[in-house]
This record gives sequence, C-alpha cells and structure tokens, in this order.
Amino acid sequence: MKNRITLIPGDGTGPEITDAVVTALEATGVEFDWVTKNAGTDVYDATGTPLPDEVLESVRDTKVGIKGPITTPVGTGFRSVNVAMRKELDLFACVRPCKSYPGVRSRYKDIDLVIVRENHEDLYAGIEFERGKGDTEELIRWIGEHTGRKIRPDAGISIKPISEYGTTRIVQFAFDYARRMGRRKVTSVHKANIMKHTDGLWLEVSRQVAAKNPDIEFEDRIVDNMCMQLVQKPELYDVIVLPNLYGDIISDLGAGLVGGLGVAPGANMGDEVALFEATHGSAPKYKGQNRVNPMAMMLSGVMMLHHLGANEAGRRMEAAIARIIAEGKDVTYDMKPHRGDPTAATTSRVGDAVAEILREG
Ligand code: NAD
Repeated sequence: MKNRITLIPGDGTGPEITDAVVTALEATGVEFDWVTKNAGTDVYDATGTPLPDEVLESVRDTKVGIKGPITTPVGTGFRSVNVAMRKELDLFACVRPCKSYPGVRSRYKDIDLVIVRENHEDLYAGIEFERGKGDTEELIRWIGEHTGRKIRPDAGISIKPISEYGTTRIVQFAFDYARRMGRRKVTSVHKANIMKHTDGLWLEVSRQVAAKNPDIEFEDRIVDNMCMQLVQKPELYDVIVLPNLYGDIISDLGAGLVGGLGVAPGANMGDEVALFEATHGSAPKYKGQNRVNPMAMMLSGVMMLHHLGANEAGRRMEAAIARIIAEGKDVTYDMKPHRGDPTAATTSRVGDAVAEILREG
C-alpha cells in the first residue's frame, strides 16, 4: 500500500532540498502518495497567511508529514509557522538524533544520541510580563504579599509552567521511542535542586514513569553536569529527555558534537501525527542556487521511514547517505575541506547520488 504523506516544501532553499529528498526516498522502493501543500513566505505573499488551514488539515489526515524549512521574517507580524504547526498539531515531542558519520568534520566520533525535547511548556509557554507594565507591577506586588519575596520593580518576568500531564507524556514518549528503536537507556535532565516545583516535579514524574518501564535503564542528570558529561563522555548517553529550554540548548550541543547543522535531522511528534524536518533553517541567501546540503532533511526522511515501519528501507537509505559522506565526492560545499571547493556537488546531485546507490541495491 502506498504511504500517503503530506509534503511541505517550505520556502527559501526548502523546495530544492525537498526535491532531492523525494528523489532519494522514492529510490528506496517504498511507495509514496505525496500530498503537496505549501506554506511559508511565498504563500503569505499570495494569500495573506503563511499557514493555510489546508496544510494543517492535510497533516491531520495523512498523520505523517515531511517539511522543508520555513522562514520566520523579522518584524512582519507573522508568527513562526514552525511554532504554529507544533501547537496546532499538538506535536509535543521534538526528537533530534545526533549521530557521527565518518567523513563529517567533528571533534568526536562514534556518537549516537537521541535528544527528546518537550515542545509546549516551560519558559517557552510565552507567559511573559513586561518591565514597568501595570500587570507586572501587580504581579510583583502579589508575589511580595504572598511569598515575602521582593522582586525589583524594574524587572521583567517570564513564567515557567511544567505540568504532571506534560511531563508524563514526554517521558513516556522517550521510553516508547527507546523501545521502538532498540535503545537501552533514558536519561532525564533537570535542575530539581534549585527549581523544586517545576524541575522537581519533572524529576518526580520521570521516576514514576521509569518505574512503569523497567525494561529500559533510567537515570537522571542535573543539566549543568549533563553539559559537561556530554562534552567529556558522550558515549555514556543514549536517549536524553528534557524540558523545553534545556532541550533547545542541548539539541544544539548535540548537533555540534556530530559536526553541525548539515547532518542534524529532526522530527516533531505527537500522539497522532509526526512531522519530519531538518534542524537547520531556510538559508534564504542560497535560494534557487541548488547549492545547499540536503543531508539533514534526508536523514529526517530516514527517521520517517522507521516511523512508517519501513525499517529496512530506512537502514539502506542511511547507509547510502553515510557512504556518500565517507567518500566525500558527491557532497555539497559545506562538507568539502574548503568551502570554495569547485568540486562541490549540487543539492540535486546529492539526491541523485543517494538514489543511485539505493537502486544498485
Ligand atoms: P539557517 O539554518 O537557515 O542558516 C544558518 C547558517 O547555516 C547559514 O550560514 C546558512 O547558509 C547555513 N545553512 C543552513 N542550512 C544549510 C544547508 N542545508 N546547507 C548548507 N548550509 C546551510 O538559520 P538562520 O539563518 O538563523 O534562519 C533562516 C530562516 O530560517 C529564519 O527565518 C529562521 O526563522 C528559519 N528557521 C526555520 C526553521 C524550520 O523551518 N524548522 C528552523 C530554523 C530556522
């Protein structure tokens, strides 16, 4: 049966990257029925909205989507399409594998981690109080009266909600993901020693969820220690689950450990729906030049194959990508030893090269 997938090419360099990824995915032999839906700046210019309802409806309907990056223009008033999709589709888990591929310039080798970040709560909830505003003054007064704590009158305030519900489902997601992908351990990250009612709750719930998943090893780490450990002994870690803010920071640390954005795939997932996309943005200055690296979105495509249950195709596509990287010939400028290397492959050539290996069998 064909897999119906919503395909969102995105904007900037998104469409050219997406074409290369589709070429590679189709060469796996897995059959796809692509439902193409557009979102981003071009759609905004044409229709006045960067995220038409039909895009969300299609992802809800097909349950699986793959998307190119989408620009968030500064100062136009349209909010991030990426953030809006995560909210509207209740994509509460951001999954970022960080894996070493020989041939990628990096300080480390043999890294194989998965970062699972909670997407909705924490300081990203957007509950903020501006310095000097009436509501802020009232809040400062209320806190003073009810807790005896003094906050300076010239302070701004951001609220950090962490709930039992949100924590239970993200930690359970991390265990389910670990089990499905044959991984051995989940590490829950927090700062429970300082923030007892938010990170403390996160830790308490993490332990409760771990007790219900005894087949997978569990441990916890304080976030500052986690940063040091990841730099010193990254091989000790496997699946790492974090609240939103720490997850944001440690995802980038993880991408840095394995050589950067060029090989950093990702997925945003919920109970019903999964949306696969690279970690990098739309690199708009290269738009239309057929130059940028499609590997990160291709590796997101590999994640999608596993999600669809096409594990063998996923392994073959990943091996083909790894071979291209190791050979170093059909790779884009950013993966060459020198950025100005005239032998750098185009975006579409990378897609064709991966597809050729897959067709060879
Ligand atoms: P970016 O990731 O687009 O670019 C950062 C740097 O990396 C640039 O030098 C760029 O040229 C380079 N780069 C990025 N992707 C590359 C690739 N595939 N191959 C080679 N080089 C690549 O980040 P930015 O410049 O901060 O953001 C540009 C736009 O993308 C912004 O509007 C931002 O909001 C948006 N963005 C979207 C997503 C998403 O769709 N999920 C994620 C991040 C940023």
